[in-house]
Amino acid sequence: MSDKRMLGTVCIQGGYSPKNGEARVLPIYQSTTFKYETSDQMGRLFDLEESGYFYTRLQNPTNDAVAAKIAELEGGVGAMLTSSGQAANFYAIFNICEQGGHVVASAPIYGGTFNLFNVTLRKLGLDFTFVDPDAPEEEIAKAFKPNTKAVFAETISNPALVVLDIEKFARLAHSHGVPLVIDNTFATPINCRPFEWGADIVTHSTTKYMDGHAMAVGGCVVDSGNFDWDAHADKFPGLTTPDESYHGIVYTQKFGKAAYITKATVQLMRDLGSIQSPQNAFLTNVGLETLHLRVKRHCENAQKVAEYLKANDKVSWVRYSGLPGDDYYEVAQKYLPNGSCGVISFGLKAGRDACKRFMDNLKLAAIVTHVADSRTSVLHPASHTHRQLTDEQLVEAGVKPELIRLSVGIEDVEDIIADIEQALNA
Ligand SMILES: *Cc1c(COP(=O)(O)O)cnc(C)c1O
Repeated sequence: MSDKRMLGTVCIQGGYSPKNGEARVLPIYQSTTFKYETSDQMGRLFDLEESGYFYTRLQNPTNDAVAAKIAELEGGVGAMLTSSGQAANFYAIFNICEQGGHVVASAPIYGGTFNLFNVTLRKLGLDFTFVDPDAPEEEIAKAFKPNTKAVFAETISNPALVVLDIEKFARLAHSHGVPLVIDNTFATPINCRPFEWGADIVTHSTTKYMDGHAMAVGGCVVDSGNFDWDAHADKFPGLTTPDESYHGIVYTQKFGKAAYITKATVQLMRDLGSIQSPQNAFLTNVGLETLHLRVKRHCENAQKVAEYLKANDKVSWVRYSGLPGDDYYEVAQKYLPNGSCGVISFGLKAGRDACKRFMDNLKLAAIVTHVADSRTSVLHPASHTHRQLTDEQLVEAGVKPELIRLSVGIEDVEDIIADIEQALNA
């Protein structure tokens, strides 16, 4: 398969090329297990001496085809589907950072990821330092410790819409001998391919634009194959010393550039589960086939809605990196020249309570705990997704109390704007 295909072609054709007489559409391998002629052959699979399917918790052909498509879209060497975006971020970190390890993470990140790191992974003995991504490099460098194993950030943070200076973060990570892990959910590879800017691992909540129809919760971890684990062998013993659960294989020796993603699959997925169901992988793949068309339309619509909101005197502020004058306009021009995403945040002059009234008056835009699907939707993070956070944590996560998160869908934009207008006037 050529890696020079353009992204739209990969969305349609990637990951699955049927041979003569095989199903044109990627089949759902709705099977937990796979049959072998000899016991020895199956044994070799368990020893990782041969590759092949034996149990869907480790690998399934439907999942693998979808993972291969996402890997090709991102320009990586391999990918693994997970049951959710939460699982993807958990695996991405835990694969290289265990008890006693430390991660430098951008503070404005998805609330679920913040809780995963700051509450649950701390209980497993991992430590995190959250940094202001806009701080000068020397300032962020102070967060690193001898036991730091990774740097984590989102290309476009949900819901604060901070656009990351990926090259700055890659420099910081690499000068400290650790990989940069980027959650690329909001940008999608259509608008940004973080590996081209120095990121080493990419994660996705495929639940969002990749599925795009709000049908299937899922996640993905993609490995660029670029990080040199052996050059920092002492930091990453899980990849560079023998795994006794596979008769002492060393991932970097046996799997080379695919060491990280192979370990995540054959060791962590084997032990922890959270595989994506083949049915959900199939649905995600249907979404991926139109990702390039939908993302473009989401961005066009969001740009027009952002301009409308900006010009409205009931609106106190609008955050959308496509608006000249936005704090992230310049950085977005560099990393997201074709558009950022369909999500806008804004505040109402009338304050926090008016947000609820505004949302209740919307007719086309629905109040749902979701973003990034084809239907326009709206959420008030301070009352919904982020309600567990203290006021201080809200500010740290870049979420103002009066912030409304609007996920602009792919309906006709005139109707979306008319709906917002009638709700603002009500
Ligand atoms: C939604 C989201 C997640 C979590 O994904 P789920 O599929 O809901 O588990 C992680 N990161 C970002 C940026 C998200 O928007």
